[in-house]
Amino acid sequence: MRATKATIDLGALRHNLQLVRRHAPASKILAVVKADAYGHGLLRAAPGLEDADGFGVLRLGEALALREAGYSQQLLLLEGVFSADELDAAAMHDVSIVVHHDAQLAMLEARAATLAKPISVFLKMNSGMNRLGFKPQAYKAALQRLEACLGVAAIQLMTHFATADDEHGIASQLGVFDDATAGASYPVSLANSAAILRFPEAHRDWVRPGIILYGATPVTGVTAASFGLQPVMHFTSEVIAVQTLEAGEILGYGARFTATQTTRVAIVACGYADGYPRHAPNGTPIAVDGQLTQTLGRVSMDMLVADITYLPNAGVGSVVELWGGVVPVDAVAEAAGTVGYELLCAVAPRVVFKVT
Ligand code: PLP
Repeated sequence: MRATKATIDLGALRHNLQLVRRHAPASKILAVVKADAYGHGLLRAAPGLEDADGFGVLRLGEALALREAGYSQQLLLLEGVFSADELDAAAMHDVSIVVHHDAQLAMLEARAATLAKPISVFLKMNSGMNRLGFKPQAYKAALQRLEACLGVAAIQLMTHFATADDEHGIASQLGVFDDATAGASYPVSLANSAAILRFPEAHRDWVRPGIILYGATPVTGVTAASFGLQPVMHFTSEVIAVQTLEAGEILGYGARFTATQTTRVAIVACGYADGYPRHAPNGTPIAVDGQLTQTLGRVSMDMLVADITYLPNAGVGSVVELWGGVVPVDAVAEAAGTVGYELLCAVAPRVVFKVT
């Protein structure tokens, strides 16, 4: 068996969920587990999140998998449904839907009265992000149409923030949302991870944490550890060969590294086909036998290279940490010009997953 492994720490998931509870004690938690629980595996991660009040998923299949596995919490399809069959199935299995577009509302109006069971709806406002949702000026009319649908069991109001993680913050979108919903008494859901950590005024009835549950930072430049988060995925591999380069010798495809002195390098059984970012440059943090060092040369499909010049005991069989222990996933992401979200979601199916 190949040594490249992703070990999922359910204790860390529970810790991070509790941290969300402490930040937003009066809110219900909709744990966002779309994209196969941000690459951790939906049914692998869910036991660590069973204290959540609900789960947010993208596809109906994910919701049905949770129902089949016995999860009785509220389940929400974050982009809603796109066909009458999906709508019927969602209602049948007590899966709530986001309604963000006129076509979805029209479909609901046409079928709501004949659904197997009444359905619960989160009506989404586009308060400024301009991705999904009814514009504020169209929101009241959409809400009235929803209220007139016979088969709608419960209504909740929601929006999503574009800049909760940066200096622009949420004030503008929050103002737009509150103005357009003034007087409505339905439960409200606004906050993603960054807003949960930074803006208590956005907590309201339901918070929707994603990335912080998995122990990575939602705020570029601020470490997950400084928020008290614990990494959930430990991505590890092994040294499968060692080379010694003399000054002037090159390393790997494209000769992206040339030794300027005698350099001992470890060839690691992990490449971009395992989900390690090909854009990680020379100097990306990596750990060998628990010791922090750096990558050298270009990441290839099945291998990457760690500098072990100053780790004399490292050799074939040494354990390599790609991220999740002394190397935060966010540090690798930053070096590669991306975010932890993308790296976690990209771990490949050929990696062996384990749960602890
Ligand atoms: N809510 C919605 C509607 C989302 O699309 C997402 C993720 O993209 C989240 C919440 C969770 O976001 P985050 O992972 O930043 O907490």
